[in-house]
Parts: sequence; C-alpha cells; structure tokens
Amino acid sequence: MKINTGAEYIESLRKLNPKIYYKGKRIEDVTKHPATSPHVRAAAMTYALSNQKKYRDLATAISHLTRRRISRFTHVHQNVEDLIKKIKLLRILGQKTGTCFQRCVGFDGINAVYSVVFEIDQKHGTDYFERFKKWLRYIQDENLMVVGAMTDPKGDRSKGPTDQDDPDQYLHVVDRRDDGIVIRGAKLHMTGAINSHEILVMPTTALDENAKDYAIVGAIPIDAPGVTLIFGRQASDDRRDKREYIDVGKSKFGVVGGEAVIAFDDVFIPKDRVFIDGETSFTGILVYRFAAHHRANYGACKTGLMDVLTGAVSYLAQIQGTAKRSHIKDKVTEMIHLCETLYSSSIACSVEGCQTPSGAYMVDTMLANVCKQNVTRFHFEVARLATDIAGGFIATMPSEYDLKSEEVGHIVRKYFSGVSEIPVEDRIKIGRLIEAMTGGTAMVESMHGAGSPQAQRIMIFREGKLDEKIKLAKALANIPNKKKKEKKSD
Ligand code: SF4
Ligand code: FE
Repeated sequence: MKINTGAEYIESLRKLNPKIYYKGKRIEDVTKHPATSPHVRAAAMTYALSNQKKYRDLATAISHLTRRRISRFTHVHQNVEDLIKKIKLLRILGQKTGTCFQRCVGFDGINAVYSVVFEIDQKHGTDYFERFKKWLRYIQDENLMVVGAMTDPKGDRSKGPTDQDDPDQYLHVVDRRDDGIVIRGAKLHMTGAINSHEILVMPTTALDENAKDYAIVGAIPIDAPGVTLIFGRQASDDRRDKREYIDVGKSKFGVVGGEAVIAFDDVFIPKDRVFIDGETSFTGILVYRFAAHHRANYGACKTGLMDVLTGAVSYLAQIQGTAKRSHIKDKVTEMIHLCETLYSSSIACSVEGCQTPSGAYMVDTMLANVCKQNVTRFHFEVARLATDIAGGFIATMPSEYDLKSEEVGHIVRKYFSGVSEIPVEDRIKIGRLIEAMTGGTAMVESMHGAGSPQAQRIMIFREGKLDEKIKLAKALANIPNKKKKEKKSD
C-alpha cells in the first residue's frame, strides 16, 4: 500500500488541489483549517489502525485481485467473514474517534458497483467490469480514500429527473465523446468529500429508460477541473474557528463526518473510468445494494459512539456523586441494552449475507434495513438517557473563557465542581463531550445518513413477504387457500 500511515494519508491530501469553500472563502489546506482538520484526523484513523498489530486482521484484507495486503476500506467482500470483520472494525473506529470516520461510503460504493457492473456485462456484453477492476486495483495499491457520491439535489420532488425545469437537479451527461463523457449536476451531503482522493458518482434512484443520461457511474479525482466543493456548517463550529477549545467537546475529531456539496460543472470522465453509461434497468439494484451495505454499518459505527456516550455519562455520574443511585444504573443498563441490540442487527445482516453472481458478498437486505431503522430510534433514546443522566448543566455551562478568567474563573470552579477528588475540568470536559455527541448535527446524521427512516420502511414493507405470512395465519386458523378463478376464454 502506497499510503501506509495516518500521517502519510494527511500528507497525501496536501499534494491535491481541490476547490473547497467554507463560509464563502476558499480552503487552501484541509489538513490545517480548523473547520476541516478534525475530520481529516478521524479519517486518518482508518489508515492508522492497519499498522497496529491488534487490529491488522480487521483493518486489512488480502485483495482478491492482486493477492496483496490492502486496507479493508478498499476490499470487495469475499465471504461472510469479511462482512462481519467490517462491522467489528467500524465499531472500534467509532469508539476511538467518537464520530464518523467517513471512509465507509466509498467502501460501500465500491462493493455495490463491483457486483452490479458484473451483471450488466453478463446481460449486455459491455466491458464495465474490467474497467472497474482496473480502477479498483489502483485504489487498492495506492490506498486511496473514495467518496461514494449518490444523493442528487432532486429539485421539485414531485417530478422525476427528466421532468425537472432545471435538468441539473440530477447529475447527468451533457456530452458524449469518443474518449469519454462530460457530466453536470451536483451531489449533496457528501460525507468525507473534502478529504477524499477520488469521487465515485452513482445515480441517486432507480431510473426509467427515458433517463439514460442520468444512469451514470464513474470515477473522478477530487481536484478534477470543474469540481467545486462547499463544506457544510455544523452546530457550534465557530467554537473551533481560532483554535480548538474544551468547549468544542471533542477537539481532536469532529462531531460528525464533515459533509459537503460537490458541484460538477461540465466535468470530463475518460472512458476507462466510466463504469455505467445508460443502463437504466440496473440503477435500482445498484442504489439498493449500496444502501443496504451502508445501512448495515450504522449498527456498528453508531454503537461505537454509544459506547463512548455510555462511558461519558457513567464517569459524569461518578463526578457528580450519583453513580450508585439505582435509577442511574437502570438508565445506563438501558443504554447498553439498546447499543448491543443495534450491534446484533449489524452482525445478523452480515451473518445472513449471500454471494452475488460476481462472487462479491452482500448483506441480508431486510436485516440491514431493520438495523438502520433501529438506529433512528435507539441512538436518539440513548442520547435522551445520556442527557437525562447528565443534567441541565451541559446546556448552561459558562465558556472556557470564563473558566480561565482571572475575574470569574474562581466562581466557575467553585460552583461547577463535583466530588472533591476529581478536578472540575473533568466535569466540564465530559459535559462538553456529551453536549457535542447529543447535539444537533451529530444526531441528524444518525436519522438521515444512509437514507431517511422512510426509505427503510419502504424496503421493510416491500421485503416483508406478507403473502407468506398470510398463508401461515390461514393455515393455523383452518382457512383454506382459495384457488383463484380461472378466466374463461372466449
Ligand atoms: Fe461510516 Fe458510519 Fe460515517 Fe457512514 S456514518 S461513513 S457508516 S462512520
Ligand atoms: Fe453516513
């Protein structure tokens, strides 16, 4: 692997020249800017773990393409064990960063595209699979971070891509040349985009055959001409504007993945980097496989975050002298129970995974959707319990400036202290950590990342096999299954 360590990953980003804006100004170096550097450090952890003996088996894999050792984040799952190892790895990374480490989006995109382009070639005699494998070998050997770019702006949502007043509301081809295609449009909410090396664009939804120009999958370097990124605002991001404070809550890593708009203004993709061009009938399965892989992750990365939150409130309860109270123990027990229930569904959808015709493995899609749906409830309940245990002070604490002030610092110290043997700074730091991990931006990600709750409910209903369940009920109630009347022919 060319990029071997977290430090080398950070160095590799400095060699790129992406056009990134934040609060109206261009960011020259994402590895140093206070708004983006925490996210860079979180992603760097995906590189760092590969070199730790304890995690090597989880964080790396042997490439089925080259037989070389690669980062698991660039691997195509070859069996159920690979699916399970991914889940275990993501939980550990969640525990170590307390946030989104971003690299799974490209990972899931790679796995979804790999399996689908194989099937397109089988049906249409195209050569997408060979093109994709060539690009993937490059990603694996260089150990690059890829942003999986799926979500289009969608404009007027009562209309499909081809009916929009503005066709750019969905990413589409504006020119086809002998040597490649030119695309225009945008992708929103792109986790980890500003610190990725490559963009893997995919369609956002199943498309009908009139929407061929929108059925595009291809890979583009992050600093390709015509690509502009706008980094999103996050709750309390001004707190890290000048330097990183206690008030940030988690100064080393961000509170959430770090999302950006990616605009494509007539961006050229050379032919050997175009992996789908116009095969609309495969867009539904591509989106579905990508979403299922990503939904499976959420019972892993988010349980890592919940582990941190459970630890934070348990320590805070010790500081505040409430740890032995039965209602506190009961609430902490409930937090652990919800967390492990979520993790179970991530493991379950991996254990129940199956092989696709390409040889790549897929998670069980029903269980993956159930997993993500549960995140949209359990993570919120865990955050509610953490807020309950922590108390109102996490929302009313004076700032770090006051803590360090010569005039009023002594007041903050006196009245924000807990049990005498633990320094007041610990209470404030843990309070800020809980504030950051239960606050606005972090929790929105849990609700809408990997698809909004309704997206999972649609799939759960669709895959619910209601006909079979009705038959089960009828059999036990002694209701015969009536045969459908055959139509008389004239
Ligand atoms: Fe990975 Fe979780 Fe972040 Fe998605 S939300 S990119 S699964 S860490
Ligand atoms: Fe996400």
